[in-house]
Amino acid sequence: MGFHVTPLRSGSSGNLTLVEHAGTVLLVDAGLPSRRGLSTALSEAGCGWDDVDAVLVSHLHSDHVNSSAVACCARYEVPIHLHRRNLDGFSRKVLSRCPGSGPVRTFADDETFSIGGIEVQPFRVPHDARGVTCGFAFTSATRDVRVSMATDLGQNENGLFERFLDSDLILIEANYDEEMLNRSPRHDRGRVGSNVGHFSNTQAGKFLVRVLQESRKAPQAVILCHLSADHNTPEQARRTVRQILTDHRFGDVPVHTARRDAPSRKFTV
Ligand SMILES: [Zn+2]
Ligand SMILES: [Zn+2]
Repeated sequence: MGFHVTPLRSGSSGNLTLVEHAGTVLLVDAGLPSRRGLSTALSEAGCGWDDVDAVLVSHLHSDHVNSSAVACCARYEVPIHLHRRNLDGFSRKVLSRCPGSGPVRTFADDETFSIGGIEVQPFRVPHDARGVTCGFAFTSATRDVRVSMATDLGQNENGLFERFLDSDLILIEANYDEEMLNRSPRHDRGRVGSNVGHFSNTQAGKFLVRVLQESRKAPQAVILCHLSADHNTPEQARRTVRQILTDHRFGDVPVHTARRDAPSRKFTV
């Protein structure tokens, strides 16, 4: 049985991605400013909070989790899973602004846990959020299908690519085009391009080459995520990454981009 993955929003104005498998529905991040916005995003995918079995929090930046998500989870008793080293920050920054919350559950580094029919393997990625930033690999109970994702990450550390090996679907950040960023007057340019800020199109392409070179099978698709509105375009991101893959004889791997303000298509693997 396969996985269905639908990025509902992706970018600095909000992130949430539906991951469905064997009757289990996970929401990876739920970072929109309003409860209505979150419900609208779910309904655009034919889904509602009643259907969501759990929310996984990658890190504490407000485009990934905030009090709106906590309020929705409280109302529908949806458990929130986050890294245990994020619990303090989450309590102070998010929970303190909410009248209540649903169950909050923590996981540790590399602790594999099951939610319904989905096995979740969190792993740390370098990023400049307070606490810990996680990527996730999702597998079926039989481990025959693997989906791996990391939407906010800086320069890849040694070993990170191993988390993405043999995936059927890869979601990876391609935040900015390096030339567009260099031309930008924006003051946080240094942060975006730093080792812990965000992945560029070129970094994403090179990272994927390394993953593909070491993998025993090619992914059915790659989805580029968290594209900057100011320093990137979907066309530019796809062009750069496709060119790097083609240069390394991986040109037949389909490369897509996740949309910022609307659901992307549903990917089934
Ligand atoms: Zn983000
Ligand atoms: Zn972030």
